Amino acid sequence: MLFVELGDFMIVMKFGGSSVRDAEMIKKVTEIVRSSLDRKPIVVVSACQGITDLLLKAIDESFQNKLDAYLEIEKRHRKIINDLKLKENLIEDLLSELKNLLTANYFIKEKGNRLRDHIAFFGERMSSTIIAEYMKTTGLNAKQFDSGDLGLITDDNFGNASIMHNTYELIRKAFKEKVNNQTIPIITGFGGKTLNNEYTTFDRGGSDYVASIFGAALNAEEIQIWTDVSGIYSCDPRIVPNAKKIELMAFEEASELAYFGAKVLHPKTILPAIESKIPVKVLNTFDPEDKGTTIVDKCEHNETTKILALSIKNAIVIEVKSTRMLDTYGYLEKAFAIFSKYKKSVDMITTSEITITLTVDSDKFVKQISEDLKQIANVKTYGNQKIVYVLCNPKFDKNEIVSSIFRISQEIKVNIHMLSMCYDTISIGLVVDDKDSVKLVKELHKKLIET
Ligand code: ASP
Ligand code: MG
Repeated sequence: MLFVELGDFMIVMKFGGSSVRDAEMIKKVTEIVRSSLDRKPIVVVSACQGITDLLLKAIDESFQNKLDAYLEIEKRHRKIINDLKLKENLIEDLLSELKNLLTANYFIKEKGNRLRDHIAFFGERMSSTIIAEYMKTTGLNAKQFDSGDLGLITDDNFGNASIMHNTYELIRKAFKEKVNNQTIPIITGFGGKTLNNEYTTFDRGGSDYVASIFGAALNAEEIQIWTDVSGIYSCDPRIVPNAKKIELMAFEEASELAYFGAKVLHPKTILPAIESKIPVKVLNTFDPEDKGTTIVDKCEHNETTKILALSIKNAIVIEVKSTRMLDTYGYLEKAFAIFSKYKKSVDMITTSEITITLTVDSDKFVKQISEDLKQIANVKTYGNQKIVYVLCNPKFDKNEIVSSIFRISQEIKVNIHMLSMCYDTISIGLVVDDKDSVKLVKELHKKLIET
């Protein structure tokens, strides 16, 4: 048997929940993997669509001795197994372990994240088992692995685990010992295991992170994130139907967009890949021929338009005004300590000599924060606001871009309440009334991207 040398595996293919939601999709995924065999793929899979949510619901139900969510999970997997004509008892052990744990939890009433992770992980364990087994029936040399058994070792911060300093090394070692280079490993996403062999998960959406960790550890030449859209667009196509796909993007640009609400992938999850200079492609399982979006460390843009993309994020504006701020230091620190106390993240900030204006994305804790702030300042809040976020084309002068934005907003009579622009700008944030945000985005898209 030939075991692995570094460089034997060249690409990591990660398939998200919608890509493996039923038998039809699993067949599609199998063909996509087959057509990439010459690139020596490693496959990372999510749970079938909706299953992680159902597992979390099953935990809640276990406190009341209810099994509705469990039964739905069982039914959906049995149907997939049946539709793929696999042996009926393929995941019997997993199902009975899950059911026993849920039933026992009525008595134990465990609310901690250790059990939560163990249960939430069943989705990936079941999907990877089914996918590997189906691939085998079509002649592929696939083999299921738990990520944690291939060296993806984390700390025991259940629910939001971190990898260890030597995880990459452990992955390389595990691949050498356990994976034959003729095999296509089908690996669970979502998280890993502790040194004590307990399942841990990263945050929701953790499978992208798993894929980039394996890619970085094994020095893959590319990481592919297969999902249900063809990449990152110049705007949400539900708002602007003729939004354009962005073929190549720098990591920093993707981060700015995601931060302000584009949901295709969370940039944090591809950081290991970017740090190792491995390109990440976002591809569409429903349209595998589409080239998708490639995210790289740094890039030059071919686009000739002033702006590259637009997105919208919810905002509540908090205005903090005090003459005590005049010529003092440490005032901002005092104000922000209040936000930290409530673990509330601030999206946009602008300041003047006696005013700090900032935005948060939901009204959770806003009342308490305002009360606390009133101890040091006059406070006003404004609801029903949106941040319109503009990603600039670095080829253009930013003054030219800003003046175009203001000209256009004036033409359509949209008031911009706040503006945020950094010294070395790739992004501009604008706060407008909720009712104006779509109108402004459509017009900016038409005038600054479509023409
Ligand atoms: N199944 C997990 C979730 O739904 C992980 C993932 O799909 O990325 O969050
Ligand atoms: Mg996802």
